[in-house]
Amino acid sequence: MRISVFGSTGSIGTQTLEVARHLGIEVAVLAAGSNVDKLAEQVASLRPRFAAMYDREASSRLKEIILAEGLPTRVVDGRRAMSELASYDGSDKVVNAVVGSAGLAVSLSALNAGKPLALANKESLVAAGSLMVEASKAHNAAILPVDSEHSAIWQCMWSSAGAGVEEIMLTASGGPFRGRKDLSGIRPEDALKHPTWDMGKKISIDSATMINKALEVIEARWLFDVDADRIKVVVHPQSIVHSAVMFTDGSVIAQMGAPDMRLPIMAALCYPGRSSVHAPGSGKLDLAQVGSLSFERPDTDTFPGVTLGHRALRRKGLAPAAMSAANEEAVAQFLSGNIPFTMIAGLCEEAMEASSESEPSSLEEVLEADLKARSYVESRCRSWRSCHS
Ligand code: NDP
Ligand code: MG
Repeated sequence: MRISVFGSTGSIGTQTLEVARHLGIEVAVLAAGSNVDKLAEQVASLRPRFAAMYDREASSRLKEIILAEGLPTRVVDGRRAMSELASYDGSDKVVNAVVGSAGLAVSLSALNAGKPLALANKESLVAAGSLMVEASKAHNAAILPVDSEHSAIWQCMWSSAGAGVEEIMLTASGGPFRGRKDLSGIRPEDALKHPTWDMGKKISIDSATMINKALEVIEARWLFDVDADRIKVVVHPQSIVHSAVMFTDGSVIAQMGAPDMRLPIMAALCYPGRSSVHAPGSGKLDLAQVGSLSFERPDTDTFPGVTLGHRALRRKGLAPAAMSAANEEAVAQFLSGNIPFTMIAGLCEEAMEASSESEPSSLEEVLEADLKARSYVESRCRSWRSCHS
């Protein structure tokens, strides 16, 4: 099998390459944003057919390096080239590990070309769920979840083919501030310290605000065609039960594993089979050593962001796209020290409430809503700074 990996230099991307190497899977395409040194290193070791960088300057530097090293890889640049590469017919599966709505075009292009899509980029399902599902059905291209909770739900479904789903129990670690009532004065370096997972910056902040769970509620709605009111969030600090499904007979099936993304990545790469070996570097889960597992309801007063997914789904239309784009911009503003942590969820809510309730019929409409939400948040942050500096 040959795969294409978009977002190959990030946390999920590098773990995907590790799993691919472990399983002897070839890599046909590598693509990322601007980290030339890392991409060049990956190209030198994996020698893919194509490599792409979103950033023009980075792309030119990559071309120089590849030429100087005499590597056979062809470098293409820019957004259009990137989404064209997602349909490359020399690849059997596309892994989308790009962060944010920048991954949307890659997802749609892969599905439209009939490629199975191993999806870590949850933002594409959040922003354009109906378009993604439509493309997946029209071109018979499966969306294979990489997000650990969704991989868990998916695996629970394998064992109960065709049975009705009563409820999805989406587990959440609770993030680094679980148990706190006052979130004022939080600095980016505090919010980036996740207790159980080691992830990219944006998702680490999403996890701290619990907006990650809101995005995942929407992701689950589209992946499993389940109404929002059947998706329940439950806090599980040990991150061992990755989610569970209650079927119509009341039976609950859960999936467990160490908190290690290489496991769900491997499940998506090996589907429709299961790997005959463990994921690289991941030890054996020892329940006796884990000791106890605990569960609690989320604290929605302290973490209002956790409710945004259900609310965006009730509002319909472009609300999820606006909420997700507003969140991306607000997270970037928080990481740059421009706004307090506690402002993020409110900005998402405002952008969502200003969004259109009509269903998007094209990628362009989604991208327009995305831009509008970002510029709304940017201007709100500018006014906040001018009042507080
Ligand atoms: P990282 O920030 O670690 O990596 C992001 C990747 O996206 C990098 O390779 C980056 O390239 C690339 N990228 C950024 N902008 C562009 C662009 N415009 N075009 C092409 N590539 C781009 O993020 P993560 O790996 O943590 O997350 C990736 C996705 O997976 C997110 O959607 C996240 O929510 C999801 N996810 C992550 C989990 C985790 O454990 N990390 C768990 C579950 C889901 P460069 O480095 O060159 O800038
Ligand atoms: Mg997750």
